[in-house]
Amino acid sequence: MKIVVSGIRPTGNLHLGNYFGAIRNFVKMQEENHCFFFIADYHSLTTHPTPADLHGNVKTVLVEFLACGLDPEKATLYIQSDLPETAELYLLLNMNAYIGELERCTSFKEKIRTQPQNVNAGLLTYPTLMAADIILHKAHQVPVGKDQEQHLEMTRTFANRFNRLYKTDYFPEPVAYNFGEELIKIPGLDGTTKMSKSDNEASAIYLADSPETIRKKIMKAVTDSGPVDPEQPRSQGVINLFSLLSFFSTHETVSHFEDHYRAGTIRYGDLKKQLAEDIIRFTAPFREKMLSLASDQDYLRKTTALGAEKARESARKTIREVREIIGFKPF
Ligand code: AMP
Repeated sequence: MKIVVSGIRPTGNLHLGNYFGAIRNFVKMQEENHCFFFIADYHSLTTHPTPADLHGNVKTVLVEFLACGLDPEKATLYIQSDLPETAELYLLLNMNAYIGELERCTSFKEKIRTQPQNVNAGLLTYPTLMAADIILHKAHQVPVGKDQEQHLEMTRTFANRFNRLYKTDYFPEPVAYNFGEELIKIPGLDGTTKMSKSDNEASAIYLADSPETIRKKIMKAVTDSGPVDPEQPRSQGVINLFSLLSFFSTHETVSHFEDHYRAGTIRYGDLKKQLAEDIIRFTAPFREKMLSLASDQDYLRKTTALGAEKARESARKTIREVREIIGFKPF
């Protein structure tokens, strides 16, 4: 059984893009692998959240991932800061991580540009913390988005460097998890090709959105002045609406609106109303689950305790062996 590790950023609610592009794959992944999913709360300290925000953000992602089907019995679902072994391995890896290579990291350079007032050592050493998260469980695979590919490459560098330095093959070289199917991309409501969190709250639909909010957002989605000449290329907003329809509505609904579009009789308002109801039907069970989990403090406590216990078993073993390899020995 392959060991797979994936971090979850505690940065707010999950939208439909996150679900179809990532979480749904995690739910499948946990069936065939030993998956470690951790909520990256140490990482999030680089932005200095207040204690209340930090805890609230961790709770939100915990509740939402559970509601989406991450199974704490099948996978090991834990909070990063429940594993101080992570911090120890991070310290050890930092001794062999060079300033030059950390400074050359694209995401670090990006941070220098976007937040010059807060370029802290945590940002510089983000790749060593990420490497610690991964190799702490001797992971074989890591599901990574485009923005994390360079970090995974650095993880391999740090793991190999450790192996070379101590003349061992202790750490496996983690590779990107391949989902083996084309990655789905959910378009945005603002006429962009990818749904994402943005300044414009109305561009993404969150699994936690109320039916009212979903209706409002969809009614405001970008279209064009249609009906327009059906022979002309469609505007991106309209392409997006049809694409969303193909995800959430029946074949009959899609054909109905396609026929009207081609006949030049389409009314985007009707399409949007139907799309809103179909998306509400899709998100309702998730939302219900989230609401019930969020009020079940006892379940959340038990789940995180179980995750911490399972994760620490793996982490303690690694740290014990790494200490020995390095030469930390009891007298
Ligand atoms: P983010 O919160 O934007 O970093 O997204 C987390 C993960 O969700 C990404 O690595 C993607 O795999 C996935 N994702 C985000 N937005 C979309 C989208 N619009 N369509 C498909 N997948 C997405």
